[in-house]
Amino acid sequence: DVESEESSKSNVKVVVRIRPQNVKEVEGNYREVVQAVDENILIFDPKENSSNEYGGTSRKHRDIRKRANRDLKFAFDHVFGPSANNIDIFNETTQGVLNGLLDGYNCSVFAYGATGAGKTHTMLGSQDNPGVMYHTMMNLYNRIDQMKDTKTCDVAVSYLEVYNETIRDLLMPGSVLPVREDPGKGVIIPGLSLHKPKTAEELLYMLQFGNQHRTQHPTDANAESSRSHAVLQVFVRQKDRTANISTEVRVAKLCLVDLAGSERATVTKNKGSRFREGANINRSLLALGNVINALAENKSKGFVPYRDSKLTRLLKDSLGGNCQTVMIAAVSPSSMSYEDTYNTLRYADRAKHI
Ligand code: ADP
Ligand code: MG
Repeated sequence: DVESEESSKSNVKVVVRIRPQNVKEVEGNYREVVQAVDENILIFDPKENSSNEYGGTSRKHRDIRKRANRDLKFAFDHVFGPSANNIDIFNETTQGVLNGLLDGYNCSVFAYGATGAGKTHTMLGSQDNPGVMYHTMMNLYNRIDQMKDTKTCDVAVSYLEVYNETIRDLLMPGSVLPVREDPGKGVIIPGLSLHKPKTAEELLYMLQFGNQHRTQHPTDANAESSRSHAVLQVFVRQKDRTANISTEVRVAKLCLVDLAGSERATVTKNKGSRFREGANINRSLLALGNVINALAENKSKGFVPYRDSKLTRLLKDSLGGNCQTVMIAAVSPSSMSYEDTYNTLRYADRAKHI
């Protein structure tokens, strides 16, 4: 029916962020295969200007396959070109999600993409250029401050990783944590530490500390490869400032997720334990893809395979239904990452239909 279609459509936003070419891509004179047309449209593998065949700069890495360029047009809720900054991304994505959160709905924001595409730059950023996680918290504190005359709000955060199908606290590193489902409280992770950073500096420190404790291993494919999913959970508890004792308490949760690299495990030439690790990463990402597919196909009806991985179990109460979701697909513009980019765009395209 029309009404549920409309409400579910407005619950998910899918944006693409194209990062600038890095030094290696520029120096290698690779072709740009992602072209932002306007704020909503991009073209993947655009037709090359025919003049390039004769007078254009010669390409060291010309696409030697004889196949014609795909010239595929994709439409998203927003396309950010290489000049966009983290504040632009926040303003267009997570800022809107905070409305849902303050209305009492669980929400989730994902950064999806291959290793090196810009996920961590977008979500975490750096001390000098903080990312969506930081801007979200600052904006949330501002909004809470603005409504302090009518409401009391309690905000707490946790920061965890899902690595190799195990959950670890990034702010209290050490033990492996279970995930449970509570009929009343939703998804809970017993033993996970909760924090209330009081200043922007404290928050930045906390995020950097957590990120330094993510499990990382250099691989053949990329020395900076990150195989863990990092999840910042923001819990908001609101109460009206009235004399009424039976006043409703509103609790909601926002999950901000810096996903592991989406490149195929088969790309890396790993053996033994790392191979299993790769398979497990695919398991969580695959499961997330399947959950997204199921939500896209069934809308609210039908079976959604949340239980297939730790990540999807963790996100069960923050994905689908009334939850607002933003998917930020990060891509490199370079032909060096042709297949990864194509796969990311197709994944993101699929997510639009939730
Ligand atoms: P991922 O987390 O997806 O593996 P990163 O966020 O670590 O990728 O980005 C890889 C490199 O590219 C980092 O050095 C990062 O600073 C840089 N980078 C990514 N996105 C941008 C951007 N939009 N502008 C400038 N540098 C970027
Ligand atoms: Mg990263």
